[in-house]
Amino acid sequence: MVSHRGPEFSEIVRECEKHLQTLMGTKNAVMFFSGSGTGMMEAALVNALKPGDKALVLSNGQFSERFAEIGGTLGIDIDAIEAPWGEEIKASDLAARLDETDYRAVIAVHNESATGAVSNLADLGAVVRKTPAIFIIDSVSGLGGIEMQQDAWGVDLLISASQKALMCPPGIGIASISDKAWALIDEEDGKRRFYWDFRKARKSAANGQTAFTPPVTLLNGLREGLRMIEEEGIANVLARHRRLGEALRAGGAALNLSIFTKAPILSDTVTVFNVPEGLHASAIVGNMYKEYGTVIAGARNKLDGTVFRIGTMGALDESEIILDLVHLERTLQDLQMPVESGSAVAAANEYLRRA
Ligand code: PLP
Repeated sequence: MVSHRGPEFSEIVRECEKHLQTLMGTKNAVMFFSGSGTGMMEAALVNALKPGDKALVLSNGQFSERFAEIGGTLGIDIDAIEAPWGEEIKASDLAARLDETDYRAVIAVHNESATGAVSNLADLGAVVRKTPAIFIIDSVSGLGGIEMQQDAWGVDLLISASQKALMCPPGIGIASISDKAWALIDEEDGKRRFYWDFRKARKSAANGQTAFTPPVTLLNGLREGLRMIEEEGIANVLARHRRLGEALRAGGAALNLSIFTKAPILSDTVTVFNVPEGLHASAIVGNMYKEYGTVIAGARNKLDGTVFRIGTMGALDESEIILDLVHLERTLQDLQMPVESGSAVAAANEYLRRA
């Protein structure tokens, strides 16, 4: 263990910040917190908004709904533009709403982990940028696997967490904040915040520290994950995520598995398959784990039973996708589904050979 007020720890923080600035596409300071993604969602709202402020949530999945729930709990006046889960919210719909109503913040999720839909932040951000509202984005499951250009896309308050494509165990929350968002955060009036106060974090970050005791060892791990990304090259990391996600989907198609997601941008960090008729997702998820030791996920929301999700984030290569497909094919056969032996691997392999 090193002291979190000593020079070794500052060095870790500063290196993590430097790598994250490149990965996030920002010149902003990057701040670290003890917490998970949900903690950072709440932190974003308590700092930017006070009870009674109007905010707009772009709601198309579990985590945007969670944002609305947190906002409601905090007494923020939340409106929503809703799209069916798995679909996108279009920039033209956002522009129409912002023409009608003034909001202090527009809130969205970059990569909806529940549905595999990716928001077009470049288009949405260009709309928000023209208004006084700030653009708050959760990229908990996108950052490190899907492109992020915070400054270019007009993302004012970007939050993320350590445990997904950044390849670190859970426990670190991450935030990066534009000048436009700081102007709101610096307003004292009516805000109730202490532990999550971004102003305290900013002051400490200037010295390579955190305001309160941080998860020191996890930051060491995060540094290693970020070094791995830098060594491979961000463009290569993102291309690998795309390639592996597509290979998985090609294999799934050969098993007659349809994709739940309807949004034009499909996630490269999680693929959401519909469960074939006659089965429950828990049978597939349970069999994959019990028979083959492969961990995939169902859904703990209104899609429970009807979809299953396979993550393709972090330090993965072709061999893992191929093996997952072997296990998936055998699982479907174990569950008496009519799938052809070898078809998934052949389709994925064919894609990988050509891509
Ligand atoms: N946002 C997204 C997009 C997520 O995928 C998750 C978790 O899966 C969260 C927020 C919540 O993060 P946590 O579970 O770390 O609190």
